[in-house]
Amino acid sequence: MTAVHVPGAPVIEDGLLVSTSPATGVEAGRFPVATPTDVTAAVARARAAGQWWAALGFAGRRKRLLRWRALLAQRIEQLTDLMHLEGGKPVADAVVEVVSAVEHIDWAARNARRVLGARRVRSRLILAEFSGHLEYQPYGVVGVIGPWNYPVLTPIGSTAYALAAGNAVVFKPSEYTPAVGQWLVDTFAEVVPEQPVLTAVHGLGDAGATLCRSGVGKIAFTGSSATARKVMAACAESLTPVLIEAGGKDAMIVDSDADLDAAAEACVWGAMTNAGQTCIGIERVYAVEPVFDAFVAKVVDRAGRLTVGADGSDLGPITMPTQLDVIRRHIDDALARGGRAVLGGADAVQPPYVRPTVLVDVPEDSAAVQEETFGPTLTINRVSDVDEAVTRANALTYGLGGSVFGRRRAVAIARRLRSGMASVNSTLTFAGMSTLPFGGVGDSGFGRIHGADGLREFGRAKSITRRRARSLLPSMTFERTPADVARLVKAIKVMYGRS
Ligand code: NAD
Repeated sequence: MTAVHVPGAPVIEDGLLVSTSPATGVEAGRFPVATPTDVTAAVARARAAGQWWAALGFAGRRKRLLRWRALLAQRIEQLTDLMHLEGGKPVADAVVEVVSAVEHIDWAARNARRVLGARRVRSRLILAEFSGHLEYQPYGVVGVIGPWNYPVLTPIGSTAYALAAGNAVVFKPSEYTPAVGQWLVDTFAEVVPEQPVLTAVHGLGDAGATLCRSGVGKIAFTGSSATARKVMAACAESLTPVLIEAGGKDAMIVDSDADLDAAAEACVWGAMTNAGQTCIGIERVYAVEPVFDAFVAKVVDRAGRLTVGADGSDLGPITMPTQLDVIRRHIDDALARGGRAVLGGADAVQPPYVRPTVLVDVPEDSAAVQEETFGPTLTINRVSDVDEAVTRANALTYGLGGSVFGRRRAVAIARRLRSGMASVNSTLTFAGMSTLPFGGVGDSGFGRIHGADGLREFGRAKSITRRRARSLLPSMTFERTPADVARLVKAIKVMYGRS
């Protein structure tokens, strides 16, 4: 990469990754770029550290993780200031993100033993002479590859759960937010100074690709669907299992009995928090005919009052400078195909900022409806009924989250959305509920972080049977007699032969 200093764009100078603010160009930090040899060495050190960490047991890990959680809570202002500097994120948005992350560390630490610990499972009559034992054993080292848009919540959504499960973690932060990534690693080292249980390797995409090929037990990837395909291809070479948290194009459905004030308020937040740079951000709305006009008016009114700019504004800069072209293209395409801008529009992109933009009557095959925009933009289209809304919402290959506003049918509609998550009468709330799994379908990925499923994602199921009595119907032995086999045939007919 050449050292052209576009504010916010990562550059490499003398083997160091230099991170700058997208709003001001002020440097946020510089970090050594990991060579392939460095990545291999980090994984080897993590492997040894992981054994030590696993041997601490659930209680020892819980104690350390809760101390880490406390450190994040105590230093929340320091962390959110750094997030604001490095990514441009408004401090208030950063606070909400860190609060969620702290909650996930707490839940993972407190629940790992219950979900993953050794337990007896019920036997069945067919093998009644054996007891069953199940536990989830750590993979050893988990490689976590993160994005920049939620540089605390997304890596912690994997990392806290992987650590609670007994794994060491080698973390490759986004090249746009290495300082925040390193801050997380450094604070963890304060509470776990003995071993490099959580370490970072910095660099561009090739560092992530090297991590995929480094012999880690599992890769937890969060990023775009395009990169997810490369990650899977690299991991396929060694059958390294992968968890994929990829992109989205989440839809919101507004039914005729919705509270329109609440729907508009939540819609604007779900679409425009973090300047729309949210994987589960609302990018498309389908409102039924009777409420469409009133809903659009309320959204325009609320979004029109958002402030855009540097410190203290509702919306900060676009973190990744190249995304500005994507946002501009989507707006232009929507307008060229007959869509109308009822707020913002053609001149909304004013680098490094984008003004809130609401587009209506946008053809479903336009880029603004089909592709991830990742800006403070929204399409709102009119539908005749909720069936049409569900059909349109489900028409894309993405399927991450979604939202439904309404009363009588809202939960039933939410269940019909082809997505991993949905919020009823709110937006994005499932991400902060640590008891619920988080993840997508289709191009949005597979596997789950958060909740009990999120813990199980970072442990291999280990099944053990143990003989507790002599077999009355010996079958899995060459010592069985023809009479034993005949008794087995009789037994199976008695046990399972009737429907
Ligand atoms: P990205 O795919 O460009 O990069 C993600 C990470 O992958 C970065 O650390 C990058 O360096 C690394 N990478 C790049 N090429 C690689 C390769 N060949 N092998 C391994 N690693 C490689 O994504 P981004 O722009 O950082 O993040 C935005 C995307 O992330 C959006 O699509 C957003 O929807 C998605 N996202 C998803 C979730 C979720 O939970 N589903 C959460 C946040 C963001």
